[in-house]
Amino acid sequence: MSIAENIARVRGEIADAAKSAGRGPSEIMLVAASKTHSAGRVREAIDAGADAVGENRVQEMMAKRAEGAYDGAPLHFIGHLQSNKVKNVVGICDLIESAADARLLDIIGKRAESLGIVQNVLVEVNIGRENNKSGVMPDELYKTLENAGGAMGIRVLGLMAVPPVCDDKDEEKRFFDEMYNLFVDIRAKKYDNVNMQFLSMGMSDDFTDAILAGSNIVRIGAAIFGPRR
Ligand SMILES: *Cc1c(COP(=O)(O)O)cnc(C)c1O
Repeated sequence: MSIAENIARVRGEIADAAKSAGRGPSEIMLVAASKTHSAGRVREAIDAGADAVGENRVQEMMAKRAEGAYDGAPLHFIGHLQSNKVKNVVGICDLIESAADARLLDIIGKRAESLGIVQNVLVEVNIGRENNKSGVMPDELYKTLENAGGAMGIRVLGLMAVPPVCDDKDEEKRFFDEMYNLFVDIRAKKYDNVNMQFLSMGMSDDFTDAILAGSNIVRIGAAIFGPRR
């Protein structure tokens, strides 16, 4: 299957899930998660209609960007972000989806301020409360967002999560539902610099369940590009 055929198939499944959830297909943003895939293949995905491209590794992103991989498409950072790499993503990425703790939000905000810009971010939530995983713990989310309001250079546009690997689909659905409840609850509150628009969850194996639970950004790699090298 070509990248274009894969995207057409994924779009069809997104449309079906959106319809079941009472939403239109255009309300769901398809991010092509392109780690390990070449600039040429990224371009194929953009040409085939991916809404945005998501990268995990700063080094790889910089190399592919220099090759023009993302021209004409929004670029999202979706991977683990080290504080010393923040300077390479702020002002470069349209959306940093993986702002995973208060300190990182602060560093991103300061960098953006020094550039005279406002950086759009999503706060990554450790919805499975896993010790070895990054992301703000659900119980700390409100405090983190309150403090983010003080940072001039930041605009929080929503939440992102990668739920734990679950043997059981129902268990995973509970994590998606819990994320949606957090999203809705925070949206109803008023924090400075926080404007809840996006809930980013769902990957190749689970994006239809994520959409049914209320996701409006899906990050899809293998189902578009095939297995990673
Ligand atoms: C790799 C990756 C994806 C895509 O995963 P697939 O299973 O290949 O669809 C989505 N989100 C993040 C954060 C990733 O690292």
